[in-house]
Amino acid sequence: MADGHPTYLWWKGERRRWEEATVHVTDLGWSTVGAVFEGIRAYWNPDAGELFVFRLQEHLDRLVRSMKLVRLPLEYPVEALTEAILDLLRANETRGDTYIRPLAYAANTSGKRFAQIGNDAELLINTSAMPSHLLTGLTQTAKVSSWRRIADDVMPPRIKNLSNYRNGQLAGQEARLDGYDTAFLLDAQGKLAEAPGACVMLVRDGRLITPEVTSSILESITRDALLILARESLGIEVVERQVDRTELYLADEVFTCGTAAEITPIVAVDRYDIGGGEPGPITRRLERLFHDVLRGSEDRYVHWRTPVGVAAPVPA
Ligand code: PMP
Repeated sequence: MADGHPTYLWWKGERRRWEEATVHVTDLGWSTVGAVFEGIRAYWNPDAGELFVFRLQEHLDRLVRSMKLVRLPLEYPVEALTEAILDLLRANETRGDTYIRPLAYAANTSGKRFAQIGNDAELLINTSAMPSHLLTGLTQTAKVSSWRRIADDVMPPRIKNLSNYRNGQLAGQEARLDGYDTAFLLDAQGKLAEAPGACVMLVRDGRLITPEVTSSILESITRDALLILARESLGIEVVERQVDRTELYLADEVFTCGTAAEITPIVAVDRYDIGGGEPGPITRRLERLFHDVLRGSEDRYVHWRTPVGVAAPVPA
């Protein structure tokens, strides 16, 4: 770590020093309109002296799907990207919770017009510290946004295209200016879609309910993991279906989930109290189990964790 940033990042096929990775200012513009990215997290386990990347394979598989959909060619095999990420974490001597962001974008767009952008793809992977907020007691309030979630016949919500995020940004800004922490976006049919950077789950009568992947949501890896944990390990009935706005107001528990959001309890929606303003019991149980799975203190789901081997020597 130097000057608040890691020593290395990975760019154009190799690990490089942070300072070396620059592009010309005229590349600002079209280069990231079609860009796709991943948000991956690694968790530090102080007892094991090890860093664990959560569902690395699934994240890279989604990156490949995102690139396919926006027609960016992938120049590197997934195995090479896996190794690049592990090498980067080792070289940066990462000993704390970390966010890993691969970004595939169009290179050489300088001076080009919208219609001229070719398919030169470039790939950057950088890391930054991102401490977990699990088990810290963080809660949020939410507002149902006046912005609708982009629909699949407008832009592809199921992938991580950077342009999609303008939709969530507008909703998030509106919510914060109106005095809420986050936003819930409805889909084109007026049913619940998701939050700006997270999926939404609710509990009613002991059942865990969440919109289907056809409800204009990202194909979330955390959502998938939590549905498995709830069903398999906690014996909770899980229902994927359309969710009405008013169900949010009447829910016993509501939380957002995602790589960055982890599990974030929502204690009020549009100023309706949820569960008396406190995180509910199912949210708490899931949060505990998810924490232990992520950090590597739970023996099950070991296949979801890639140990980095931070103690291993790294070639200069
Ligand atoms: N929806 C959106 C729009 C997101 O950006 C994210 C974060 N990647 C999620 C949901 C949650 O997805 P994941 O669990 O794969 O991080």
